[in-house]
Amino acid sequence: MSVAVSRVGDVAEPYEIRVSARRRRTLTAFREAGRLVVVVPATLSARQRRELVPPLVERFLAREAARGAPRGEADLSERVRALYRAHLQPQVGGEVPALGARWVANQHHRWGSCTPGTAELRISDRLRAMPGWVVDYVLLHEAAHLIEPEHSPAFHALLGCYPDAARAQAFLEGYEFARTMGAAAQSPEPRSSSSSRARSASRSPSSGEAGDAAGRPRST
Ligand SMILES: [Zn+2]
Repeated sequence: MSVAVSRVGDVAEPYEIRVSARRRRTLTAFREAGRLVVVVPATLSARQRRELVPPLVERFLAREAARGAPRGEADLSERVRALYRAHLQPQVGGEVPALGARWVANQHHRWGSCTPGTAELRISDRLRAMPGWVVDYVLLHEAAHLIEPEHSPAFHALLGCYPDAARAQAFLEGYEFARTMGAAAQSPEPRSSSSSRARSASRSPSSGEAGDAAGRPRST
């Protein structure tokens, strides 16, 4: 067994290589308890391994990201630390804070929030079904609030390093738009529009939390 590291975008992910005496030709990649494992035939030369394994891992991670593979709590915390290391630390220096992130089911009007005191992020579980690059954007957005609490120019400059930021924001706005349209279409009463305005107004951050909905409609 050996461990290598693959990069997708700027985020590195370690994986384990296992050599199988039974396998003749095919290589395979899979997750085992959240950990990425690649099995290669023992007959493969070191050179073939160097040539074949990295593209296989890249394809596997790209497919996983596109699918928005559900992540567990540990994965989510690890992910936000990797994102901080890749995108924010080069800009602000210092150590990576002891970031933690967990899924929550009670955030219907926000995508995420953060508590600066504990560096704890809460991510709406509505994101679980979304592509990985959208989840990454929300994680990075909330992590950046630990540095810049407001949506200031400095905050947007911090996020500017994430290549999918604009695309992820558009994705989330499209999702909200479709949801609002769906709710309006289901109610024959014209006052449904005023009730959805009331819901939007309730989105302000609650006390004790900095930062509000990442990529919410009309985000500033
Ligand atoms: Zn925000």
